[in-house]
Amino acid sequence: MSLSRRKFLGWMGAAGTGTLLKNSSANAASNAYFSGYPNSYAILHDITRCVGCRSCEAACNSVNELPVPEKPFADLSVLETRRRTTAKAYTVVNKFSSVAKPDQSVYVKKQCNHCLEPACASACFVRAFKKTPEGAVTYDASVCVGCRYCMIACPFEIPAYEYDKALEPRVMKCTMCYPRIQKGLLPGCVQACPKEALTFGKRKDILKIARDRIGNHPDRYIDHIYGEREMGGTSWLYLSGVPFSSIGMREDLGVTPAPELTSGALGAVPIVVGLWPVLLTGIYAISRRKEKVAEAEKREAVDMAVAETRREAASQLDAALDKARKERDSAVQQAVKKALEDAKKAQQEETS
Ligand code: SF4
Ligand code: SF4
Ligand code: SF4
Repeated sequence: MSLSRRKFLGWMGAAGTGTLLKNSSANAASNAYFSGYPNSYAILHDITRCVGCRSCEAACNSVNELPVPEKPFADLSVLETRRRTTAKAYTVVNKFSSVAKPDQSVYVKKQCNHCLEPACASACFVRAFKKTPEGAVTYDASVCVGCRYCMIACPFEIPAYEYDKALEPRVMKCTMCYPRIQKGLLPGCVQACPKEALTFGKRKDILKIARDRIGNHPDRYIDHIYGEREMGGTSWLYLSGVPFSSIGMREDLGVTPAPELTSGALGAVPIVVGLWPVLLTGIYAISRRKEKVAEAEKREAVDMAVAETRREAASQLDAALDKARKERDSAVQQAVKKALEDAKKAQQEETS
């Protein structure tokens, strides 16, 4: 894996601050109910209204520019197979048979729940994940090192990895349509749902809507808002007419914020987290040493070239001087010889 300097320094900045499991803002609150972002948004999935049309899936792929699936979204036969989210599908709808009402199917939309205290963020020692004040848990691919602890940590088995991408693979998951939220737009899936099975708003208002529905229709709903307290709370909330455990949703998670569970479940991670800064510092030192060695080698080579050039120049100069000397001597000899010959000739003319 090639490391750009920017990325490397990004790691150093993130890792160098110490054990993030303990300091992450994502787990700043260790109470059962995280209230750090009271104005954050949430989305309610009213399972009793969902008809499994997959419009939300289609909208999600469209707004996130994800590839079109092999089978078109209009093909509802895919609902017969239990699916999980992938790098090419941030959300999937699964079909369940209702034990209480065997003649009815129950459709459950699945995506990142945007936990109030995300396990993925607490497990990520380079801080690639961030819980935003708006509620979305965002991911920064530019600092991700691909260790995939987030995938192990997530209790909802959400993050997916671009295994088929040779260069710079990313962790992929629902973004809660953060870019759209910031522009004041509805999340794509919410806008597309033809049955109003999805409702977007401030979390406190969404909780009130959910409570009102349960209060007004106790025959229709079980008395439980899934996500209000699970794992310390999530930004996707669910209403159902059947027990959540019967439709593939874990009810064994408790109300403990995920980071606390993560640190327990990923016993090895804190050790690795502790080691990484040391390792990165080592790599950095080696690379600096290499740079220094390269610098020294470069200087030495230049010095040698200069010395060689000097030697060459001196030798050429000597040769030139020698040649000049020889030419001069030869010229003098020629001149002397000629003068002697001229004198001899003159003497012979005088005596004859
Ligand atoms: S559902 Fe999983 S991926 Fe999404 S915020 Fe929670 S821990 Fe992270
Ligand atoms: S794979 Fe997950 S845990 Fe690992 S660096 Fe990336 S985001 Fe963090
Ligand atoms: S909120 Fe956006 S990214 Fe998440 S499932 Fe809906 S459309 Fe997809």
